[in-house]
Amino acid sequence: MATAGKVITCKAAVAWEPNKPLVIEDIEVAPPQVGEIRIKIVATAVCHTDLYYLLESMPKAGFPAVLGHEAAGVVESVGPGVTEFQSGDKVIPLFLPQCRQCRFCKSPKTNQCELGMDAGHADVMGPEDSRLTCKGKKLVPFAGTSTFSEFTVVNQVSVAKIDHAAPLDKVCLLGCGVSTGFGAAVNTAKVEPGSTCAVFGLGAIGLAAVMGCKFAGAKKIFAVDINPDKFKKAKDFGATDFLNPKDYDKPISAVLAELTAGGVDYALECVGNVGVMRSALESCVKGWGVCVLVGWTDMHDIATRPIQLVAGRTWKGSFFGGFKGRDGVPDMVKAYMDKKVKLDEFITHNMTLAQINDAIELMKQGKCIRTVMSVCPQ
Ligand code: NAD
Ligand code: ZN
Repeated sequence: MATAGKVITCKAAVAWEPNKPLVIEDIEVAPPQVGEIRIKIVATAVCHTDLYYLLESMPKAGFPAVLGHEAAGVVESVGPGVTEFQSGDKVIPLFLPQCRQCRFCKSPKTNQCELGMDAGHADVMGPEDSRLTCKGKKLVPFAGTSTFSEFTVVNQVSVAKIDHAAPLDKVCLLGCGVSTGFGAAVNTAKVEPGSTCAVFGLGAIGLAAVMGCKFAGAKKIFAVDINPDKFKKAKDFGATDFLNPKDYDKPISAVLAELTAGGVDYALECVGNVGVMRSALESCVKGWGVCVLVGWTDMHDIATRPIQLVAGRTWKGSFFGGFKGRDGVPDMVKAYMDKKVKLDEFITHNMTLAQINDAIELMKQGKCIRTVMSVCPQ
C-alpha cells in the first residue's frame, strides 16, 4: 500500500480524561515496528469494558487513551519480522495475546498468555510503545488494540487472521463479547447436555453465554436481569425462563433453589458486580454446581461463606471465554459462517465512529446490545 512505511494521519476517538465524552481528533499513527501490524479498522463495537475504563475504574495506564477492543479490519502494512500476515489480510485484533511460546500458551489448560493483561492493563503494548500520538502526546493503547481509530498498530501476537469472505461488520463481535460469553459456557463452565443453567446479566456477554448454554445442550436456561427489556432477546438466544430480581422479596438464589429443587448446575455472572457474583455462586446446587465469573471489576472483593465451597460448589473465572485467540477466533468466525453461532442478532444499532458518544450513551442506558460502528470503508 502507498502508505506503508509512512506516518498515517487519520481520525480517532480520543479519551482525554475519565468521565468525559470522547473527542474525534486527527491523530498520527506511526509505521509498525518489529513484530507489529498496522491495521485499517473497518468496524468496531462498544463493549462494557471500554466504559469501565472510561467511567468506573482508576486505570493505571491512564489518559489520554484510545479505547476499543472489539473490532475487525484489514492489514495495511506489517513491520520487520512479520511473516504470518501481509497487507490485505482480514484480521481481528485481540485484547488477549497468544504468543505460542510461553508456558501458558503451551498448556491446553489456559489462555492466559504471559504477555497478556495483568491486573487490568496490557503489557504487550505499554504506553511507551504506543504508535499513536495526538497534539504531541502519546495515546495509551487500551488493551493493546485501540480500535476506536481508523488505523491502529497491534503486536502480531495479538492479531487473528480470519476467512477472507467474513463480513467484518458482523465478525467484529468475535473480538470480545460473543466469544467471551459463548466460551465461558462452552469452554470454562463446560456445560453438559440436559443441565440447568442461570445467566446473570443479558448484555452481549450474557446473551452469548445463553447461546453457549443452548449450544452445549442445556435443557433449562434461566435468564436473570433487572432490565426486563432484555428478556425477549434472551428467549431468541435460547433462554427458557426469565427472572427479574426486583420482582422478589427474597434473594434470587433462594428463588432459583426453589425452582430447581436445590440450585442450578451452572451459573454465569455477566454483569461485573460482586453482589451478583455472590448470588450466582449461591444459586448453584451443592455437590457439583459451577459458577463462572465473566463480569469485569477490579474495585471490590468478592465474598461468600466458606460452606458454599466446602459443600462442593466451584467458583471460577473466565477471560475471553477461555479462547486462545489466534486459534479460537478464526474457528468462531468459521462457526458463524457455517451458521452454528449467531452474530447478526446481537447488533441493535449501526453508526459511524463520529457517533461514538451516542453509542456509549446507549450502552450506559442499557438501550443496546451491541452498536457496530463503521470506521473505514474496506
Ligand atoms: P452490558 O452493560 O451490555 O450488560 C450488562 C447487563 O447486566 C445489562 O443487561 C444490565 O441490565 C444487567 N445488570 C446490571 N445489574 C444487574 C443485576 N444486579 N442483576 C442482574 N443483571 C444486572 O455489558 P456487556 O458488554 O455485556 O459486559 C458484561 C460484563 O462482562 C462487563 O462487566 C464487562 O466488563 C465484562 N466483560 C468481561 C470479559 C472477560 O473476558 N471476562 C470480556 C468482555 C466483557
Ligand atoms: Zn469487551
